[in-house]
Amino acid sequence: MRFWFIVGSQLMYGEQTIKEVEANAIEMAKFLAAKLPFPLDYKGVVLSNEGAVKLIKEANFDGDCAGIVTFCHTFSPSKMWVNALGLLQKPWCHLHTQYNLEIPDSIDMDYMNLHQSAHGDREHGYIGSRMGLPRKVIAGHWKDESVLERLGKWQRACVGALFSRTLKVSRFGDNMREVAVTDGDKVGAQMKFGWQVNYVPVGALVETMASLTPGDVSAKIEEYREKYDFDGADLEAISYQAKEEIAIQSLLDQDGSLAFTNTFQDLYGLRQLPGLATQNLMSKGYGFGAEGDWKTAALTAIVKKMASDSSFMEDYTYDLKNGLSLGAHMLEVCPSIAAGRPKIEVRPLSIGNREPPARLIFEGKAGKALVLTLLDLGGRFRLITQDIQCVEPTQKMPQLPVARVMWKPLPSLEVGAECWIMAGGGHHTVLSYGLDAETARDWARALGLEVLHIGSQTTAQGFEREILWSETLWRNP
Ligand code: MN
Repeated sequence: MRFWFIVGSQLMYGEQTIKEVEANAIEMAKFLAAKLPFPLDYKGVVLSNEGAVKLIKEANFDGDCAGIVTFCHTFSPSKMWVNALGLLQKPWCHLHTQYNLEIPDSIDMDYMNLHQSAHGDREHGYIGSRMGLPRKVIAGHWKDESVLERLGKWQRACVGALFSRTLKVSRFGDNMREVAVTDGDKVGAQMKFGWQVNYVPVGALVETMASLTPGDVSAKIEEYREKYDFDGADLEAISYQAKEEIAIQSLLDQDGSLAFTNTFQDLYGLRQLPGLATQNLMSKGYGFGAEGDWKTAALTAIVKKMASDSSFMEDYTYDLKNGLSLGAHMLEVCPSIAAGRPKIEVRPLSIGNREPPARLIFEGKAGKALVLTLLDLGGRFRLITQDIQCVEPTQKMPQLPVARVMWKPLPSLEVGAECWIMAGGGHHTVLSYGLDAETARDWARALGLEVLHIGSQTTAQGFEREILWSETLWRNP
C-alpha cells in the first residue's frame, strides 16, 4: 500500500518558481515518507487540467495506491482541478502546510510568489467543498509531530478502507434465531463496503476436522504451549479446539476469507463450540462475530488491520455503583488485548448443548480504547464509536470463566449508554486500544459511511439533535 503526494501550482509564476516548488515537494515527500507508517511517493506538480486528469486517472487505476495527499505550494486555480477531482476514486487528504515554518526577515516578492499555500490551499479547499467531495483536511507544518501523527492515522484508515473492498466473510451457520441487530442486508453491505459474505456448511468443518493427522494437532498444541498456560489434564478438550482451529483456518484460507461467524445454534456434528480456536485465530488477524454477526466479524477484521490490539467484544453487565461496564463474551475475546499471559481452561457452557469448551481466560489491559459498532438501518449503515477508559478490574471474579475487560465509558456510563441506545447501537462491538475516534471517522469517510461519536464532551441532548440531523442527511445522501 502506498500514498501519492501531489503538489498544486500553475504556469503563471515561470519556470524558476516551479523548479523550486518541485525541489521543496521532493524534500517534503522524502521526509514524510520516512516518518509515516506507509510510503508516500512524490508524483509531481500539477500545472494544468490535463496534467491533473492524467495523474488522478493513474491513481484510480493503481491497485497499490491507497490515497492521495495534495498540497498547493502556490496558488493553483481550481478550475484546473475540476475534471480530475470529479474522477477521483481514492481517499483524499488535503495537507494544508507550508514549506517554511516561519516568515524570514528577507521576505520579498519572489518569496511571496513561492510560499502561497495560505491562499493557494484555500482555493483548493473551495473546490473540494463546491464539488461536495469528502476529504480529510490536516493543517500545520509538515515536520510537526501532531501533523505526522494525524497523517499516519489517516493512512491507516485508508488502508482499512482498501482492505474492506477485498474482504470476504465466511458464515458457519446462519444468524442467531430472532435476533435483529446482528442481521442485515448482505448485498447492501457488498455495495457499500465491498464485503463478500458467504455461507459455509458446518458439515464442511466437521469433514475437514476428520481429515486432520495427529501431527497437525500436536503442532498446534505446541503453539498453544508457547503462548498460553494450561493443565495437562485438559489436553483432550484442548486438542479438539486445535482441530477446530486448523479446520476453520483451512476453510477460510481456501476461500481467501479473513473473517468468520458461527452460532451455538448450529453446531451440527461438533462436540464443542469453538472458543480457544476462535480466540487464537482472532489473534492472527481474522475477524470474528458470534451468533452469526457477520457485520461485526467484518468490522473486527478491518479494525485489526488498522490496529492489531483489537477484539470482538460485547457489553455484558454493569457496575452501576461505580459507572463501569464489564465487557466479555461467552468465549470469544481476542488475546491481543490481554494484560498478562492467558490461561486455557475447560469449563461448561450453559447454552448450545455441547461438551465444555476450552477457552482462554484473561483480563484486558488498562488504558484508553474505543468501541465501535455497525448497524444496518435499512438501505443504509451507521457506525457508532465511543471513547472508553479500560481499567484494572475492581473485583477478582474467580467464578467467571471468560476473558473480560472492565471500562469506564465516556462521558459516563449513563450518558454514554443513553446516547448509544438512542442511536440504535447493539451489544456486539469491536474494542480497540490502537484505534481512536479520528481514525475511525477517517475510515468511515473513505467509505461514505455515517458515523456518530460519543466522547467526553457528549451530552444526551446534543447527541439526540446530532442523530436527527445525521438521519436527515444520510436518508438521502
Ligand atoms: Mn453475543
